[in-house]
Formats: sequence, structure tokens, C-alpha cells
Amino acid sequence: MGIAVGSLSAQRVPAPAAVAPAITNIRYELVFDSATARRRSLGVGMRFDVTGSAPVSLSVPAWTPGAYEISNYARKVSAFSATANGRPLTWDKSDYDTWRIRPSAAGTVEIHFDFLADTLDNAMAWSKPDFLLVNGTNVFPYPEGIGLEFPSRVTVTTASGWRVLTGLDRDSAGGGYRAGNYHDLVDMPFFIGRFDVDSARIDSAWHRLASYPAGRFKGPAREALWRQLKAIVPEEARVFGETPWKNYSTMLIFDSSYGGGSALEHQSSHVGIYNPEFMGTALLASITAHEIFHAWNVKRLRPAEMVPYRYDEPEETTLLWVSEGITDYYSDLALVRSGVVDSTVFLAITEEKRQRVTDLPPVALEDASLSTWIKPTDGTADIYYDKGSLAGFLLDIMIRDATDNRQSLDGVFRTLYRSAYKQGKGFSVADWWAAVSAAAGGRSFTEFSGRYIDGREPFPWGPVAALGGFRYRADTTQSIRIGVSTISDSSRIVVAGVTAGSAAAQGGIEPGDQLLKLGEIVVKDQDFAEQFRSRYAQAIGSTIPVSILRAGTERTLQLEIRRETVVEVRLEYDRQAGPKAARIRHGILKGTTDK
Ligand SMILES: [Zn+2]
Repeated sequence: MGIAVGSLSAQRVPAPAAVAPAITNIRYELVFDSATARRRSLGVGMRFDVTGSAPVSLSVPAWTPGAYEISNYARKVSAFSATANGRPLTWDKSDYDTWRIRPSAAGTVEIHFDFLADTLDNAMAWSKPDFLLVNGTNVFPYPEGIGLEFPSRVTVTTASGWRVLTGLDRDSAGGGYRAGNYHDLVDMPFFIGRFDVDSARIDSAWHRLASYPAGRFKGPAREALWRQLKAIVPEEARVFGETPWKNYSTMLIFDSSYGGGSALEHQSSHVGIYNPEFMGTALLASITAHEIFHAWNVKRLRPAEMVPYRYDEPEETTLLWVSEGITDYYSDLALVRSGVVDSTVFLAITEEKRQRVTDLPPVALEDASLSTWIKPTDGTADIYYDKGSLAGFLLDIMIRDATDNRQSLDGVFRTLYRSAYKQGKGFSVADWWAAVSAAAGGRSFTEFSGRYIDGREPFPWGPVAALGGFRYRADTTQSIRIGVSTISDSSRIVVAGVTAGSAAAQGGIEPGDQLLKLGEIVVKDQDFAEQFRSRYAQAIGSTIPVSILRAGTERTLQLEIRRETVVEVRLEYDRQAGPKAARIRHGILKGTTDK
């Protein structure tokens, strides 16, 4: 566990060791070729100069910023050694991710270890016979007690003909790469091996597109992503008024063992891992837009609790719904504003998010932001994405409404980018709401925040949507209903809940019962409900036998077929919206305000 900076070091490090040893000229080396690939590992070297024999503590990070979970990369270290002038040095561990080395004298200390690259995860290291993904947080130890502002150099040794791609600057002197500080060093993942890469200029900066396996992501699908990137990136840059990178790398891995897709953001790159089915889809463009927006929102403009990053323990913030959820709102906006999707798709994506949130237990966005570190098991672990995105949508409408569409949520981000990031600071909850309120012409958001962000009340969809030219329509239908919710548990359908007063409640069905047969319908999978409705639609008022398994015993209960009123609500464009609401809607979809 490392100590980054600040007063904690005085409390936690014994007095004699608090005097930081002089450690300079820090160099790292990564070795990956077909021999290390066969062991699914890479070799890591670190060299630095010391002025005496004071012990040196080297820590390996516990997490990667953006992947808000403790992974303890030190688990993957093996064959650790420390030497000086070719002679072994004494070392031990001072905690589970810190190695304490005792130099014998002034000079150069050299350490080596192997790192297991066996995990297909954006924040981890993963090797194939001809390829390696590795994150700096996995493999670059930092000396404790000297802060994280130290410069360093990196060399990569690999097979001839294999490529290296990283966002790190080239080191003109040493032939490798260099980083001005540790934060930049570990924010530039590496692709090493055989992979495809091409580049193009977008908004006056070079953009690189790298993909593994070589030869796999090509033709129309690759061309489609390039077209999408060229459309999306300028729309996102327009929100902040600048393109902040010298060059940007979209680094993609396609692997059929990976279910779905996910990606991890960095200041000038992101790594996306996808099932090959994602090639050529709008979903690939959507995740890509999300990660690139993070280059501004969270990598640069960041909640104060995460400034500076520390790598040894969680950095909890109540604002992850802004960093993740509103990034997702802007990903949707970038897609519709650039024409990658049309306004019908934008509405459908928004409505899907609203449905998913509605189906989950009520959770406050601030609480969900804090809980990300422990991954709650009630289904709400990722709710701050969808719900935070919807909060951004509502705030955008309210700011535009309060200012006759002269201001927008875009302005909130531009303001904070200048007042926090450009001043070298993070933003607090108070800074966030002050910027929202200022954008909305001084309107207070204290009540909104209390009820919907810190609180758990359902969002005020009806009134707010109307202000933005959207309508929240309720459809009332009649349908036959049993009145149970069920979960699939391997091949069984088990009752999770019973609606009070329903036919199921009346018939004596209880949570925990396994459904075997409903009348003539054999319950094998979740299709049973649809089969039940179509088979018994004309049998209202009759009674059927229901077989259940309760505590290992089969029983038969009687269930009445009832028709019940079902209310389904959905968001839609209001064709009858007044002129102001229509201007607000147009502004949201086009990224404009009125002057
Ligand atoms: Zn994200």
C-alpha cells in the first residue's frame, strides 16, 4: 500500500523512514516476446539511483483510475529480485503490495519480476501468443515517500516485427518513452505485438485506431468506425471548446470469449474489449463516444476526491453519476448531434435507460456513486450510468427552460472545465450545483438535489419532459395477470414476489415456490407467462389448477383467471409542444442554444 502525498504519511510511516530516500533516474523496462507469451507473462525491470543505504519501499497500485474496484495487481507478481552491481540485495515485504529493498551503498538498484498477463480486462494485463495488453498501473511500482511527480523513462523489448503502441511521448534521447510524472506514466496502456493500426487527423490532432487480432477488424466495419469517430469527436470537443490531446488512440481488442463489450478511458486513449459481433454497430460507436468524452469529463475535469489520484486505496466520491452518468448522456448526444443515429434512436436509448432504472430498487445517485467500490448485488451496481444519464437530460432541460434556451448543460461543463480543471483542481458537490444554478440564471437546485440526487424519489418525468418538448404517455391496457414476479434459477422458475390482492395471492402462491404447471402450461422457462396469457385469454373467471414445489413437496393450488388493468408509460416526442419547448428540444438534439 503506497502513500501518495499529504499528512497520512506522517501517521503511517515510522519516524526514521519518513525521511524520503533520494531516488532518482527512474527507468522501467517491459519485455514481451513469444517466449514470455508462452508463459502468459511479461518481464518487468526497474532501475533507479540511490545516494546511500536507506531502505527503499516500492509499491504496486491496487486499482486503475476509471475501473473503480480494488484489484491488487501485486497478486500477479512473481520471481521478484533486487540487485546492485549484479549482487543480490536484501529485501522483504512491508505490506502485501510493497517491497522493501535495502541497498548496500549509493549506486544503481535494479529490480526484476514476472507479471502474469492472463486476464482479459481493460484494467489488467492479457497476453496471446502474438499480443499483449498491459496497463501501467499493473506493472510500474512507485517508490514511497517521494510523491508521484517524479519523471521516468520506459523501454520496451519485444520480438522483431512486433509493434508497440502507447500514448506515452517518445524519449528522443533514450529510444524509448518518457513520462513527466507517475500519473501520466500509468495512464498510457500498451499494445505490444501484432495488431493493425491506422491514423487520421480529426480536429487538427492525430487519431490512431489500433485493433487486435491483426487483419480482423477491416473493410466496411472499420471504415464505419472511422466515419463515426470523425463525426463524434468534433461534437464532443465543441462542448468544452478544445481538443486537449496531442494525439488520441482508440485501442480495440475483439475476442469471441468476451461476452458483450466494455472500455476504459484514459487522457489520450481508451481500451475497448468487445465480442466480434460489435463490429460495425452503433453500440460500438456509442461506447467509443462515451470513452472519448471521458478524456474531458473525469480524466481532466474530475471530482475533488480523486485529485490527485492515489493508487493504494479507493477514492470514494458522491459525484460518479456526473463523471459516468452524464458522460453517457453526452455519448447519446454526440451520436444524435453528429447524425450517427437519428432522433428516434436517441429517444429509444433514453427510454431504455428510463425503463431499466424503473425496474430497479430506488437508489440515490450519490449513494450509488459511493457504492461502486463494493459492487452491490441487488442489481443496482451500475445504476449511476443510466440514472445519472437521465439526471443530465433533466438538468439540461431545466437549465434551458430557466434561460429561454440561452444556456445549457454544455455551459456547466465549460464553466467547471475552466474554473476547476484549468486551475489544477477537482470540483466539489457545491461547485457542481453552483455551476448548474449559475447556468440556470440563479435558479436554486437545492430541492431537486435533495429529492432526486441525494434522495431516492422517482424523477419528475412528466413536468420536466414537457418543458423540453417530450411527453410522458401512459397506455392503459387490459391483460390477464397472475400477480407474481419470478426469477430463473438454473432450469427452475421460482416465485420472487406476489402482488397483494392478486389472483396468485388469493390462490395461496408464496415467494420461494417453484412453478411447475399453470393449467396446461408446463413451466420450463420465462416464456410461460406469454403462453399462459394466450392460452387463457378467453377463460376469464374460470379456475385452473397450479402445480408448485414448496420445500421439496409438490402441491396443487387453485388459481382464478382474472383480467387486470396494466398501465405502461413511455417517453415520446410531443408533436404538439409549444414553441419554447420545441426550441429546447431542437437545442438538445443539435447542441445549440438561442442568443
Ligand atoms: Zn465511463
